[in-house]
Amino acid sequence: MCNVIDVAQCRADFPILEQTVHGVPLVYLDNGATTQLPRQVLEAMTAHYTQYNANVHRGIHTLSERATAHLEEARETVRVFLNASGLEEIIFTQGTTDSINTVARGIAPMLQAGDEIVVTQLEHHANFLPWQQLCLERSAVLRVAPQQNGALDVAAFRALLGPRTRLAAVTQVSNVTGAVHPIGALASFVHSVGGLLLVDGAQAVRHESTDVQAMDCDFYCFSGHKMLAPSGIGVLYGKRECLASLIPARYGGGMVDIAGEQSSTFSPLPHRLEAGTGSYAQAIGLGAAIRYLNAVGREGIAQWEHTLLDETARQLEMLAGVTLLGSPAHRAGCLSFRVDGVHPYDLASLLDKQGVAVRSGNHCAQPLLASFGLEVVTRVSPAFYNTRAEIDALCSGIRRATEILWRWSGR
Ligand code: PMP
Repeated sequence: MCNVIDVAQCRADFPILEQTVHGVPLVYLDNGATTQLPRQVLEAMTAHYTQYNANVHRGIHTLSERATAHLEEARETVRVFLNASGLEEIIFTQGTTDSINTVARGIAPMLQAGDEIVVTQLEHHANFLPWQQLCLERSAVLRVAPQQNGALDVAAFRALLGPRTRLAAVTQVSNVTGAVHPIGALASFVHSVGGLLLVDGAQAVRHESTDVQAMDCDFYCFSGHKMLAPSGIGVLYGKRECLASLIPARYGGGMVDIAGEQSSTFSPLPHRLEAGTGSYAQAIGLGAAIRYLNAVGREGIAQWEHTLLDETARQLEMLAGVTLLGSPAHRAGCLSFRVDGVHPYDLASLLDKQGVAVRSGNHCAQPLLASFGLEVVTRVSPAFYNTRAEIDALCSGIRRATEILWRWSGR
């Protein structure tokens, strides 16, 4: 039994939610794109900039040492959040895209012609294009596991694995249908053929398990801005030996041990993969965001977000002309839908006029939408600071917008 969260109390921590747009209260339901920041995270960032801003790992002076201590404290907070076994397994990056590209670039020199990379139709472009381009560059083969009802067809995924599989890259939660994938099972399939599993956790981190040891994934990637932290910070987790085998995607300051004129030696992990000045203030914000999520209670957050999503699905299914995209057995974080005779951009625009922020587009998941024969859909992604009343406002907004658009088109 988990603690139920106090939604009103949570909302009070998010000053941005108190505003009106177009004269009506803001209903922010685009959390799959980015979440809002609570006061506690903003205060941690303000403390950084007003009390100890200095470059990290470089200066032997008080401010630099303080900033470095706070950065490394944030790394430890991330380590515990992921249940990683060591700090050297936590690499700070700019976000999920950067984390995935770091792995793709890092394995590139080892990939032989004819080697295979397996992805799925449900991937965000961030977990699709780096592998597609890598395969083109190395004459490797990209295998794409199909979706079924908006979730991964696990049997088809398994059938694509073989002795040439070097790596499989799978999203934990789809950013379009919200399908939740059985990462532990997928890891055992991939490992049984000697491959590595990379998990895109971008849509999962706020509400699903992030225990990388339980999942037994080899790499895990996420972005801070989808879990109450600022933009420009993300994490690449990797098992120690997997990270150690990556060729650095970037060279420069902070990652070198001895730089000679013709050759150099490099720092141990994690710094070997963190060239240049990183987003250290944002990393400190990420640490504060994780502490905030823990204080509210991650199980309670997951439970409330599931309640809101179920309520959204229930109400949408009762609306005339509305079809949900897919029917995954387990859904979390978001769902997408279309309305007969209504373009998603028109819908999002009319919802905005009613204060409701949702996302219409291809959601950087064109292969998935193409598999449904679609180009754009509308996505709703509630967070734990949303209320049932806001879901009601969304659904009555859709009803109103649909009536107007149907009337205009003479339906
Ligand atoms: N993967 C998934 C599943 C996502 O939803 C997103 C963001 N929409 C990304 C990757 C890319 O994240 P970022 O832009 O923060 O790198």
